[in-house]
Amino acid sequence: MPQDSSININSGGAQQNAYDAIVIGSGISGGWAAKELCEKGLKTLVLERGRDVKHIKDYPTANLAPWELKHRGSITRETQLRNPLISRAAGYGEDDQHFFVNDDDHPYIQEKPFDWIRGYQVGGKSLTWGRCTQRWSDFEFTGPQRFGYGWDWPIRYADVAPWYSHVEKFIGVCGSKDGLEAMPDGEFLPPFELNCVEQHLKESILKNYGNRYLVHARWAHLTHPDQVHIDQGRGQCQARNLCMRGCPFGGYFSSNSSTLPWAEKTGNLTVRPFSVVHSIIYDEQKQKASGVRVIDTNTKQATEYFAKIIFVNGSALNSNLILLNSTSNRFPNGLGNDSGLLGKYICHHNYRGWMNGEIDGFTDTYYYGRNPTDAIIANYRNLHTIDTDFVGGYTTYCGARRDRNNGESCPQQIGAAYKESMTEPGGWTVYAYLQGETIPKEKNHVRLSPDKKDQWGIPLLITSVEYDDNDEKLLNDFFVQTEEMFSKAGVKNIEHWDSKQAPGLDIHEMGGCRMGSDPKSSVLDKWNAVHACKNVFVTDGACMTSTGNQSPSILYMTLTARACNYAVEEMKKGNV
Ligand SMILES: Cc1cc2nc3c(=O)[nH]c(=O)nc-3n(C[C@H](O)[C@H](O)[C@H](O)COP(=O)(O)OP(=O)(O)OC[C@H]3O[C@@H](n4cnc5c(N)ncnc54)[C@H](O)[C@@H]3O)c2cc1C
Repeated sequence: MPQDSSININSGGAQQNAYDAIVIGSGISGGWAAKELCEKGLKTLVLERGRDVKHIKDYPTANLAPWELKHRGSITRETQLRNPLISRAAGYGEDDQHFFVNDDDHPYIQEKPFDWIRGYQVGGKSLTWGRCTQRWSDFEFTGPQRFGYGWDWPIRYADVAPWYSHVEKFIGVCGSKDGLEAMPDGEFLPPFELNCVEQHLKESILKNYGNRYLVHARWAHLTHPDQVHIDQGRGQCQARNLCMRGCPFGGYFSSNSSTLPWAEKTGNLTVRPFSVVHSIIYDEQKQKASGVRVIDTNTKQATEYFAKIIFVNGSALNSNLILLNSTSNRFPNGLGNDSGLLGKYICHHNYRGWMNGEIDGFTDTYYYGRNPTDAIIANYRNLHTIDTDFVGGYTTYCGARRDRNNGESCPQQIGAAYKESMTEPGGWTVYAYLQGETIPKEKNHVRLSPDKKDQWGIPLLITSVEYDDNDEKLLNDFFVQTEEMFSKAGVKNIEHWDSKQAPGLDIHEMGGCRMGSDPKSSVLDKWNAVHACKNVFVTDGACMTSTGNQSPSILYMTLTARACNYAVEEMKKGNV
């Protein structure tokens, strides 16, 4: 059998290590699988490669003032030199670096530059995510097939709409109902207010274009908690904008504050930290998966755990790695890889476009609190027809803020008057950034190294992902259109720049295990089950058939909840 014979396995007695369900990974999607399966009465084992992180207790910096942090929140030169890759991640700082991996501990091989951003701990990246949660519309589900740049999804918006509602009500999403075709409404808590400049931009854009809409984006923040949030032990968002440290109020959604404790209350949950899943075990006789091989990250002892269904939620690239490493006589090239497509069509979002400008006036108005959200201009490109020289759409995040008065206008750059001038707020700055769809391509792939392994004997992942000409055109359109919209609204001194960042730094890793109706051109069916191994479900970003232009995590939660419901129904019928 093509398994790693160097592993000394402690099966612990099949009985003792047997559960109804195993969930690999405890991040955003794994937390949802745990909640849904435990609520439905399944004894569920969550395997997490990282350490445990308990809500509140394990947020050591949550309440520190800047002067209580040794370097006022900045990372040291030494940290930067030791972690050149992970320290590029958005928001990485002295106050939250403990929720990101260290570069040296978790190597991988970049055939082409790819910044793989990871948070290995209970809760995964749910602790540090940006919390933006728009729904997909049918434009995204159908675009790739309608315009011939990708494969068709086996599902439509109507299939997931009720599951979006299910997720939104539980996690708490703030936003306004805008009635936009390109960005469907959901179950919203009240939004944060647009400030006066954002309101001005909104009106100007609508007046000048008629079909472009600047609205509140949707965010997983409790602006006004419902009973279900209070029952989770969570409270109102305090607008501190210190979210990435972990929120002691539970003001934003994370697995740690929400799904995992909820699952635990059922009495059906077991979480095993420090447990890296090496591979999934395939039972050749029963023709289904029977469990997983796990390596204790501290002792390096291997153990097997068994279950009737397995949910793979390691985050897209790790889920690809686990499946590629799950070889057997039936699946010599990775579990479910009959099509040869496993690990291919890896994709990401185009986050290269950034813009800043200034706007005069509005100096009699200020705002209160540190709003942790941005506004959004919903995608207006390539909806009904292709109306540009590229395919796919993009979302424009934007906003306005009053900067600190740096005393530049004060004639003397010293003394009481200078200090006094700095207590006044400065002028308004307007900003925007791009989140663009990318085209899934076969050549953008991950595969296993044939000879290099990590400290647990698991093959290193090789990443081979790059931009294409479509990304350049889309980026250029963002610059031209956003500059025009801002100029028409009176924004001046506009600067824009291409960050030229490597794929991966967008932290929206997707694909490799895509959903589809035809097993010849996809790995997963419409319920996220592996076509050729129906008791294994992949419901994180690996399942994505295309990228759309919206932040993806709420779709992973939605597909997870939907797949859990299906899996349990199938179990009841004796089909898995
Ligand atoms: C700074 C930042 C901002 C972001 N902003 C947004 C946003 O605004 N909106 C949005 O939609 N998304 C955002 N994201 C992305 C979002 O965090 C991810 O899409 C989401 O966390 C993916 O969920 P997941 O369950 O697939 O993976 P994760 O949350 O990463 O969880 C995966 C878990 O699996 C564990 N694991 C991996 N491999 C194994 C293994 N072999 N064995 C056992 N355990 C394993 C990991 O340790 C981890 O805990 C952001 C991310 C970051 C870091």
